[in-house]
Amino acid sequence: MKDAIKKLLNKTQTAFQFLSTLIRGIDNQIINQYILKISQAQDIDNIVYNAYNCFNDMFECEFFAFAIYDKEYNGSLDVWMEPKLNDTAVIEHLKKDFHTESAYCNIRSFENPLYPSDKQKSIINTSQIVSLKILDKQSKAMLYILPKRKILTYHEDLFSMICKIIAASLISFLNIKKLETAALSDPLTHCYNRRALNTSLDRDVAKAERYGTDISVIMFDIDYFKKINDTYGHKTGDEVLHSFSKIIKATIRNSDYLARYGGEEFVLVLPETKLDKALELAERLRKITENLEFKFDEKIIKVTTSAGVASYKKGQHKEGLIQKADELLYEAKKQGRNRIKPGLRLCRRNAGTL
Ligand code: GH3
Ligand code: MG
Ligand code: MG
Repeated sequence: MKDAIKKLLNKTQTAFQFLSTLIRGIDNQIINQYILKISQAQDIDNIVYNAYNCFNDMFECEFFAFAIYDKEYNGSLDVWMEPKLNDTAVIEHLKKDFHTESAYCNIRSFENPLYPSDKQKSIINTSQIVSLKILDKQSKAMLYILPKRKILTYHEDLFSMICKIIAASLISFLNIKKLETAALSDPLTHCYNRRALNTSLDRDVAKAERYGTDISVIMFDIDYFKKINDTYGHKTGDEVLHSFSKIIKATIRNSDYLARYGGEEFVLVLPETKLDKALELAERLRKITENLEFKFDEKIIKVTTSAGVASYKKGQHKEGLIQKADELLYEAKKQGRNRIKPGLRLCRRNAGTL
């Protein structure tokens, strides 16, 4: 009897060992398959998507999120997660990890096919979330999962391996992105530079020509800027330029873009925007600037801006569009500054002919 029990125990143990080797083999296979995909991924969406599939295949995750913060790359907390799980508690949990309580959090939708579409938004118990560190230096990236399957000791090695692969892929992506950004952006204001403006405006004007869509540009020039430099110094002048561009960027839509055209001259491009809407925006930005108080070392500096606004006409070249805005800006300066041209009322009266 004793022998029979011993034999049975032995057999059960062998079966367990066999089963666990089999599961380990399957997990290893899954990991190997995704290691290749992640290391070949060309962009961040692809890296996150493959990481997500990898963890889902292994653990049937009830929850998956990926978050990244890099001052130079995005300057805000970017989070990928399923929209239905986008609840405040989760976001607060993530923000704590990133020490960015006040930072803007950009949520990217991420559909989980395993998550039934008719299911109500579920409340995630944040204390059960497993957090995995991906990057922790200049860029910070974390991955969060809530697995349905039990995490076993050997999974820790797999986690470490997959996290290293994700990290390597992310670093290579971020390095490429930073080089691209540096080549296209103005180092002081982080707006587009002239080169980037030319490329993007060529593309948008071609699109407007082909599909008959609208496109408007606003050319801004800060008034009496030389005086700011002369009174407060060039460094303070630089800070005003930086803050001015930041405020404009914070007000415009994602599809609009701001370029530094020259010293204190900026071009704002508004795809799919008619002249009247562009004028309204220019006027709003003019007022915002007028009411701003730039504070540097106890000094309060106030500035105003003038702008010329022009809309694309069929057959026109990009240069013609910019020139028109420049001419109108000159008019605004001539008429006393702190104004936009054409004036809003004049534009409405002559709608269609300007
Ligand atoms: P207006 O109202 O006619 O535009 O007068 P303004 O003083 O703004 O124009 P002006 O063209 O006479 O002077 C522009 C000034 O902008 C002169 C230049 O030193 C300054 N400037 C250009 N680029 C920079 C920069 O990168 N940083 C700083 N601090 N100043 C700059
Ligand atoms: Mg000026
Ligand atoms: Mg100027």
